[in-house]
Amino acid sequence: MKLCELTAHELKDMLRKGETSSREITESVLDRIQEVEEKVKAYVTIDREGALKQADEIDEKLKQGEQLPPLAGIPIALKDNMCTKGLKTTCSSKILENFVPPYDATVVAKLKENGAVIIGKTNMDEFAMGSSTENSAFFNTANPWDLTTVPGGSSGGSAAAVAADEAVMALGSDTGGSIRQPAALCGVVGLKPTYGFVSRYGLIAFASSLDQIGPITRDVTDCALLMNVICGHDPRDSTSADVKVPDFTRFLRNDVKGLRIGIPKEYFPEGINPEVEKAVINAGKLLEELGAEIIEISLPHTDYALADYYIIAPAEASSNLARYDGIQYGYRSQDYDDLIDLYKKTRSEGFGPEVKRRIMLGTYALSSGYYDAYYLKALKVRTLVKQDFDRAFEKVDCIISPTSPTPAFKMGEKVDDPLAMYLSDVFTLPVNMAGIAGISIPCGFSKEGLPIGLQVIGKPFDEGTIIQVAYTFEQNTDFHKRKPEL
Ligand code: GLN
Repeated sequence: MKLCELTAHELKDMLRKGETSSREITESVLDRIQEVEEKVKAYVTIDREGALKQADEIDEKLKQGEQLPPLAGIPIALKDNMCTKGLKTTCSSKILENFVPPYDATVVAKLKENGAVIIGKTNMDEFAMGSSTENSAFFNTANPWDLTTVPGGSSGGSAAAVAADEAVMALGSDTGGSIRQPAALCGVVGLKPTYGFVSRYGLIAFASSLDQIGPITRDVTDCALLMNVICGHDPRDSTSADVKVPDFTRFLRNDVKGLRIGIPKEYFPEGINPEVEKAVINAGKLLEELGAEIIEISLPHTDYALADYYIIAPAEASSNLARYDGIQYGYRSQDYDDLIDLYKKTRSEGFGPEVKRRIMLGTYALSSGYYDAYYLKALKVRTLVKQDFDRAFEKVDCIISPTSPTPAFKMGEKVDDPLAMYLSDVFTLPVNMAGIAGISIPCGFSKEGLPIGLQVIGKPFDEGTIIQVAYTFEQNTDFHKRKPEL
């Protein structure tokens, strides 16, 4: 096995025993990028020099016999919507194509403090709006399992990089499914933490009441390690929760005995992909054999969640994206008559079609005369969606479901049909609306050899339970061990 193919916890052990160096690990990842990036195209920016410099600093500390921080020497990729000081952060948008942030996002600062080696910034749907990474203003990213299919989105670059061994771990962001859905489609692990658990400071805002940063990793152990580093209160994010962060590795227990696991009947609608359905039902059976109690539950407002999300998320986006006016930073149109014309041309030329669609939808929903009928109503429906989960969690400790209704689809298949694209997130976005936690882990493969994801949904700030269930499932299956051939 090459170093780039190992997990962070395996590499950590090797480093500690002196069997390898941080430089060797980083070089192995950079070599792999050299080898396959032309096909996968996971990265917008690769920071070769910066990564090697960080790796050498870790090796220097190792030599001095210093106690190393938890992620010392581990190569990580960051979705390109997290601000990195001195390193371009584009959101895969023309409007931020040359934006170099003057500061680090809180998660980035934490990774650096904890010794992680930042390899580069990954491709995404522009401003995180999309489910296939095809809305990137720059290029498409391919799914390493089948290069003619999409890696999912919007954190498609991060998921593809981890699946293709172009990074050992990665961070993504999830507003309606953008960590879990690409993790499912690329056969890796992705966790969306409870709203408020991870600081959003320095995450370029899409829909602020829904956005959360979270890990994309090769196994659940690495997910727990990364959660330990990124969670925690941040005074610079006013929605950051002031709660105690547990040591998530304590939940890496191969045991689900006595746990009550709900399966929502609304998450298996007519017409669901039969292979996905079968894989998830089988996962439930396995957990039952391992001692969990499987209980059928109902989340009755599921049908409204998608429409509701597509009022709330665009409304917030239209407000958040008002700042891109060509004045202080970002793209500015070259040829304009007056100030209003400058705004118009900058935004017309700088934003792609999906972003414009969202801005129009959101502006409409928030406009005087429509606000009550759309936005206010949507907030009320959001409460109903959340109450569904509250009620369910009176009966069960966590919930399992498919992550995505289908395995990876062909590139180009849904680009002209926004609604079909939006449906990719029917099972993930209710979790964001409710502000709770969800993890996706590999639970099977389609006939074509494409990965299928199992979602485990947990109570707020109870990531421990879903990590425990995910870990138990992983220890008793080997889906996570398969690698795509590239
Ligand atoms: N696909 C959803 C959207 O386009 C979710 C995106 C996300 O989670 N960032 O809004």
